[in-house]
Amino acid sequence: MNIADSERIAGVLEQIGYEKAPNLDEADLAVVNMCSVRQSAVDRVCGISQKLIQSKKKRHKTILTGCMLRQDLHKFEDKFDFVFDIKDLKNWPRYLKGKELGKKDLCKISVEPRRQNDFLAHIPISNGCNNFCSYCVVPYVRGKETCINHQQIINEVKKSVEGGAKEIWLLGQNVNSYKSPENKKIDFPELLKMVNEIPGNFWIRFTSPHPKDLSDKLIKVMKSCKKITPYLNLPIQSGSNQILKKMNRPYTTNHYKKIVDKVRRAIPGIFLSTDIIVGFPQETKKQFEKTKKFFEKIGFDMAYILKYSPRPGTVSAKMKDDVEKKEKENRYRILTESLKKSSLKNNEKMIGKDLEVLVLKETKNLLEGKTRDYRNIVFEGPKKLIGNFVLVNITSATPWGLRGKIISTI
Ligand code: SAH
Ligand code: SF4
Repeated sequence: MNIADSERIAGVLEQIGYEKAPNLDEADLAVVNMCSVRQSAVDRVCGISQKLIQSKKKRHKTILTGCMLRQDLHKFEDKFDFVFDIKDLKNWPRYLKGKELGKKDLCKISVEPRRQNDFLAHIPISNGCNNFCSYCVVPYVRGKETCINHQQIINEVKKSVEGGAKEIWLLGQNVNSYKSPENKKIDFPELLKMVNEIPGNFWIRFTSPHPKDLSDKLIKVMKSCKKITPYLNLPIQSGSNQILKKMNRPYTTNHYKKIVDKVRRAIPGIFLSTDIIVGFPQETKKQFEKTKKFFEKIGFDMAYILKYSPRPGTVSAKMKDDVEKKEKENRYRILTESLKKSSLKNNEKMIGKDLEVLVLKETKNLLEGKTRDYRNIVFEGPKKLIGNFVLVNITSATPWGLRGKIISTI
């Protein structure tokens, strides 16, 4: 979501004459697009603001935007020249260049992304969230869920595909609750079907689906639509039903397991990842043990393991953050070790196979990409393949990815 926002900021700034600077020192304008989901991200903004102040030249203006808590806003206000609301992006040109631009010029400005890579398109289908998980700041900083008209989404996908997009990400805090404001019959599975029908050679991915309302209809659509990739990030957050209740996540581990079984039956070999929080207030050793066992039982391909971070204003911030830092780190390490085992086991199953890969970048003379099911992969090849699909034979595996030999372009 932050990438999608940043690309839209770049798109709007380009329309009023800005272009990407080669480095910070040469920039006339620096924009920090912040995230408040965890304190560590907020702390990074402190560091960045210091750096910006130190590198400040006369021409160097700074903007702070993104998801921001009111108290952070006060903290950062005097460290940046402007603090702008991301939802107000259409009006930024007026604030930045109001005097130079006439009313006519301002009317022409549209909120369109300037993509970092034409082959990757991050497309929000909704903004905000109504779920109020007790630990989460998103509903407070992004506001209530608002869905984007399906026609607008379809047009953006079409335009991106015409512009060379090979991987389309449909984004929402809970994609499962999507309903088109134009036509309430168009829910998320219907939207996926429509995107799948758009002509072109591209992959569809989405995130995040809340387990509380992952429907059979969605599984059916994922199975039948060729462009939808066999990849699912299904955030569990905890493997203890008591903690899930405290988190205001209205499902049980049993329910979660049932969904996973259904999904795996429908789409064998699907890449399954999750988000999980360790050290939630009053999470006992026993409750963590349940999480660990459940985590092992599922055998995820990938997991975003996060140490609980109290967020001001949320319900859980009123509970005592009583799992010590060291113990949170310990629980984090235990789950990471467990993940390493399951992901290695799953990656090893790929050895010998020929897999479709989208080449994303070059690092240390190796091409890096993602398989159709979202596994990391590295292999040797010419840089010109970046942004293209290739076929790669898998030669070895690690917990975090695959290595292979290119066979051909697709
Ligand atoms: N809408 C998505 C998650 C968005 S936030 C969903 O419900 O799945 C991304 C992830 O950040 C969450 O899944 C959660 O694991 C993590 N997160 C959110 N608030 C957090 C907090 N206070 N401390 C630690 N991790 C948090
Ligand atoms: Fe946060 Fe829960 Fe909404 Fe996800 S579903 S954004 S975790 S409140």
